[in-house]
Amino acid sequence: MRFDDEDTECEKAVTWSCLRCGKKMKDRRDMARHIEAKHVDTGDGFECRVLDCEYRAKTRLTLANHMRNAHKMRRVEEGILKS
Ligand SMILES: [Zn+2]
Ligand SMILES: [Zn+2]
Repeated sequence: MRFDDEDTECEKAVTWSCLRCGKKMKDRRDMARHIEAKHVDTGDGFECRVLDCEYRAKTRLTLANHMRNAHKMRRVEEGILKS
């Protein structure tokens, strides 16, 4: 009855486990952020739609930061986020 001791303990200790790298987190949002930042294949990424800007972000969050910092935009519109 000791075969799956490890697995059982792991599942009790944490709620979410990253399937790609095995990283474990309790907060689902943290995990979503981790996956999006590290593993989500966003294809060509998220392109900044501002004219003359060739910035390309790997994640939506990065793009949001770029919009805020580079273009002084407070919020990225949903339409911009979708590719
Ligand atoms: Zn991971
Ligand atoms: Zn830009």
